[in-house]
Amino acid sequence: MAKLGKEELFDLVIGAVRNCGWQVVRLSALNQHPLRFKMFKDEEGLLVRAYIWNISHGGGAARPADEYRIQITGVDQFREEPDGKTVILGWWDEAGVFAGFDFRFHRRPLGFSPSFQIKEEYLREAYQKGFCPYQKDNREIAVAFRPDFIAEYLRQLESLHGFGRQSRDFKILASVAEDPSAVSDEKITKVSGPRRITVSSVKRFLRDTYFKDRVLNAYRHQCAICGLQLDLVEAAHIIPVAHEQSSDETSNGMAMCAIHHKAYDKALIAVDAKYRILASDARMRFLTEIGHDGGRENFLRNLRPLMVLPPAERDRPNPGYLKIGMEIRGWENW
Ligand SMILES: [Zn+2]
Repeated sequence: MAKLGKEELFDLVIGAVRNCGWQVVRLSALNQHPLRFKMFKDEEGLLVRAYIWNISHGGGAARPADEYRIQITGVDQFREEPDGKTVILGWWDEAGVFAGFDFRFHRRPLGFSPSFQIKEEYLREAYQKGFCPYQKDNREIAVAFRPDFIAEYLRQLESLHGFGRQSRDFKILASVAEDPSAVSDEKITKVSGPRRITVSSVKRFLRDTYFKDRVLNAYRHQCAICGLQLDLVEAAHIIPVAHEQSSDETSNGMAMCAIHHKAYDKALIAVDAKYRILASDARMRFLTEIGHDGGRENFLRNLRPLMVLPPAERDRPNPGYLKIGMEIRGWENW
């Protein structure tokens, strides 16, 4: 199993945050531990101080076979980031998974050769499901997660690690991690106080991530409308999320580049039940009337006559959903 150098670990953290769609400004020097950075997205900004080590096997016959750990070296006491987030992370390179420990349990000066443990099953669970909270013997909540969860982890840091105080809340959070679509919104109302927002947010995040992964893979990261890749492709819902008939099935999704996703939701284009791509004459006429039709010819030329279809039949848009999608967006005359 590879052990990464500090700079490689820092690059992993920053790369993961950027892949979640956040901008990052690094504040610490290249080889300086802890890593400090600011991350931004829309109106949100977070200041982060990250301690990080490789996760390795507990070592020695005296340790349980399923025990993994980070061995704390080079730090005698964790320092808190004032007005920011302080995180203690491990990286398990074998599966590409992070583990986050609760800084609030580790404020005091560290003893000789300290290490924080994590069981292998939780790391594997996170590798498969994306996210796995678990309760350690000392009542600390640790969280194992894949890199695509890192921004959500940092945003919800204190709340996620605070789930140790209420075992019912923890159970609901753990079941969301297990299968987010199996936990009803009604069940989430049983979670106490501000932790309810965290559970809802994690549920939405995991559902979105699963949906996006499935749809983008089904379309090989290609826009269904124009064929563009370049990692500019998003997962669009055919029947919008808030609609009662919406679902997260792959057949209620289409991969679209950012422009065509917007054009689809604005009903400038549609896909009918025979997979034909249509452009709205009425909408185009209106845009011409108000003088907003710049780039129109180019736009129309870029539309394929028929959408790109996923190779597997079960992944293709459900024609019934496409019909409802058109009705909802005001195409009932077609
Ligand atoms: Zn496109």
